[in-house]
Amino acid sequence: MEVAPQVYQITRMMCNVFLVAEEELTLIDTGWRGSARRILDSVQKLGRSPEEITLIIITHHHPDHTGSLAELKRLTNAKVALHKADAQYFTGKLKEPPLFKGWYRPLNLLLWPILLFLRPKPADVDIILEDGDELPELGGLRVIHTPGHTPGSISLFSPKRRLIFTGDTTACFLPGRLSGPLRIFSFDMAQGRESVEKLAQLEFDILCMGHGSAVTQGAREKVQKLV
Ligand SMILES: [Zn+2]
Ligand SMILES: [Zn+2]
Repeated sequence: MEVAPQVYQITRMMCNVFLVAEEELTLIDTGWRGSARRILDSVQKLGRSPEEITLIIITHHHPDHTGSLAELKRLTNAKVALHKADAQYFTGKLKEPPLFKGWYRPLNLLLWPILLFLRPKPADVDIILEDGDELPELGGLRVIHTPGHTPGSISLFSPKRRLIFTGDTTACFLPGRLSGPLRIFSFDMAQGRESVEKLAQLEFDILCMGHGSAVTQGAREKVQKLV
């Protein structure tokens, strides 16, 4: 689905991947394990080829965003970019923390076979991102460090296109019900709330999230209301 000119949302198992189709192709996130075929089919439906994907930006390290990263890296020419705080889990410097947090921790034990099955295969990280970095996509895509959901969660903001990708720093699991990061999966809720406040100060109309439909009008006001 085209959410803005040259920006497509691809949804599989309730998780969104975004394709930015300019002269070169960029993916934002990669969905669960097993999503590569669906993503590459969408690329081909636009009359483009997988080899044209030169960059994959990861908003954070969770398995629903990195599940197909290794496979997509193998099938495309993409370099992989993510924030340094989440890159540590990929390089093995830090052990991947349990997915369920706080009161929900027992679910890590109960659901371990499923979590093991969904676990992403390791992939190399080529570009380490930091707050304030700027990528060339969409007339300049600014990296905004929005920690809380994970330590290295980022949002990607195009001032020129008044569009932002927030990963799981905001979500919309029920139609019309915008929320901040979900407590069940979030590393630090206080930090997550601060990150949503940070987002509310930016000038954007279109909000693209890891889960739920994109908000294509008046998105900033909706985030301000959430704050
Ligand atoms: Zn997440
Ligand atoms: Zn997610």
